[in-house]
Formats: sequence, structure tokens, C-alpha cells
Amino acid sequence: MDLGEAIRREAGQSMMKGKEFGPKKTKRDYDKWERSPEGIRYNMTTMGDVTTEDEANNCLIVQVLQRLPKRIREKVLEKVIFVHTVADGTVHPFLHGEGGGGAYIIFNFRGIKSEKRKLCTIAHEIGHFISASKNPTKSVPADENERRADDLSEKWGFGRAYKTYKRFKGAFSL
Ligand SMILES: [Zn+2]
Repeated sequence: MDLGEAIRREAGQSMMKGKEFGPKKTKRDYDKWERSPEGIRYNMTTMGDVTTEDEANNCLIVQVLQRLPKRIREKVLEKVIFVHTVADGTVHPFLHGEGGGGAYIIFNFRGIKSEKRKLCTIAHEIGHFISASKNPTKSVPADENERRADDLSEKWGFGRAYKTYKRFKGAFSL
């Protein structure tokens, strides 16, 4: 076990017991644990039946969260519940909505094989959440809504989900 792993393990255990770090454990140690895969997975809320496949997809969500700016990652971890489903989507295969003070991001990864595509989808949906939380009352045309989510996904390094937004023109956003 290397030193980094030892610190994360100890940090994780202290956190789980609700204890504070000892005097030798600095805020930096905590920050390091918090942005480690273990720390992010520990702070992430997921819902639904957990299959092996879902857990593999949760690891991809962790990868995306790890690469987001700290402030955004913290907001997502605090507010978002990640749900996996195999139900058919209606208008949008990846539904998202506000409710009960938090937001659900619902993924249907059935039919998406490429890991890169999954990462982009995750970042795009998180983009929707961040974009909506900035303007909670303002209604935005669907094509503009999709563009904003893609702008954020691209900014975070995961590329764009759509090449064109024509298909959303005149539609209502979810
Ligand atoms: Zn979208």
C-alpha cells in the first residue's frame, strides 16, 4: 500500500466513523481523499437496483466527477441522485428533473457501448443540472438547453453529445 492509499484509507475510515482527522491529518489530506475515486464514490448518492453493470457505470460517473472543477463536483455530490434504468426513454433518453430540493439524473446506458460516449453523456447530463441550477426559474428553448449542456461538457473535456441542435428546435425542454 502506498502512502496516498494509506491516507485515503484512514481518511475514509475516519469519515465513516464521523470522526475528525487527528492533528497529523491536514485539510490537504482530506481534500486529496475527497477527490479520490474512493472519496467521490463514498459521497455519491445512487438509487435503484445495483447490478454489476450499474456499478461499472457508477465508476464512469466517478471518473467524470473527478475531472470537474471542485465547486461543481461538490454541488453535484450534494444535490444529485444518480439513477440507472433500462426503461425506454420518451423524448430524451436521459431524463433529468428537479424534485425535493435535489435533482435526479437518470441514465439509460442500454445501447451505449462506447465508454467515451458514456462519459460524454454523463458530463452532458451534469451540464443540464448545473445550467438549470444557475437559472432555475427561466425557461429556455430546448435547442438552447441542449447547447448549454454541451458547452459545459466540452469545457470540462468530455466533448459534445450532439453535432447539431436542429432536432430540438421548437420543442419544449424537459
Ligand atoms: Zn440533453
